[in-house]
Amino acid sequence: MLLMIPGPVQLHERIIRAMARQMIGHRTADFSEVMSFCVDVLREVFQTKGDICLISGSGTAGMEAAIASFSNVRKMATIENGKFGERLGEIASRYTEVERLQFSWGESVDLDAVRNAFDNGCEAVAFVHNETSTGILNPAKEIASIAKEYDGLVIMDAITSAGGDYVRMDEWGVDVAIVGSQKCLGAPPGLAAVAVGEKAWEFYNERCPYYLDLAAYRKKLKDMQTPYTPAVPLFFALAEALEIIREEGLENRIQRHRILSSAVRKWAVEAGLELFPNLNEYSSYSNTVTAIKMPDGITDSELRGTLKKEYGILISGGQGELKGRIFRIGTMGNVGKMETITTLAALEDILRRKNIINPALEYAQILLRDLR
Ligand SMILES: *Cc1c(COP(=O)(O)O)cnc(C)c1O
Repeated sequence: MLLMIPGPVQLHERIIRAMARQMIGHRTADFSEVMSFCVDVLREVFQTKGDICLISGSGTAGMEAAIASFSNVRKMATIENGKFGERLGEIASRYTEVERLQFSWGESVDLDAVRNAFDNGCEAVAFVHNETSTGILNPAKEIASIAKEYDGLVIMDAITSAGGDYVRMDEWGVDVAIVGSQKCLGAPPGLAAVAVGEKAWEFYNERCPYYLDLAAYRKKLKDMQTPYTPAVPLFFALAEALEIIREEGLENRIQRHRILSSAVRKWAVEAGLELFPNLNEYSSYSNTVTAIKMPDGITDSELRGTLKKEYGILISGGQGELKGRIFRIGTMGNVGKMETITTLAALEDILRRKNIINPALEYAQILLRDLR
């Protein structure tokens, strides 16, 4: 099976092999060396001088750790224009008063609503940078700069942007950012990293969940350890994935993600399909996942089912209210031109059998020509 879903992503052979090792003690210099390398590269990925807290748990553990640890605020605004934005709102509601800024899924964020939330007494904002459920890239820099005018806290889910797109945490004024291992970093699922800037500690809530208390992670970071037994094999895998990022170079990697996703979008548009997100002047299409409206004449199960059965390729459908209405192609991690062209060719075959689209593969191929 070829995974072209927005996580978990297809693993590079080197990363698979990195996990098949004898265990090491997590209170040893061997472990600290692995962890220290991970922290270094993740600082680069987030573009931050802040602390990197590594949690054994999926991305959602990172989201909850970030929100709960820094929930000592009068009121937190959550920006919700997709499934993961809604999740931030649901998490935040458990720890503090929340003003949930809700937009239709796939709509762009109205920045005036963010400003109003701070005018109404919010002291923090939590939002999703790259909303995986709808394929939209939200305006991180603009949201953070509004929050900074009010000296507010900024928490950003960068789970499907970090490692695949520009994330400039310190420059933008993002205080806390989260990434999951199984998306653009290209590692298996099971680890979350939360990057924390100094200012976040002004909002520290000591009554957060014990396992997700980032103060404990920060404390053990001094010894390059985690507070509790980490998922050691996943650390081996993450270190190898980050080694691959170092070798490729972050800038090259971001450009590769941009080229792959622009080829998917170009194919879709030239084929006569419609991209799902509704952009405004501040938002843009995601550079790591493409959401396309399901055309008339085929159902979700016919399209994705045939792709899976005949070609062995897995793509995603819509989540929640978007089920059956969109399909999503992830171009994250270490996939390249071969996987992307194969996926588009297979989709084109299935859709053309029903006379739904025009041939458009060559448009994608032209864009991918210079990619090795
Ligand atoms: C995948 C994802 C998450 C976290 O999902 P987990 O299943 O907990 O790893 C959070 N936010 C976004 C934007 C995601 O794409």
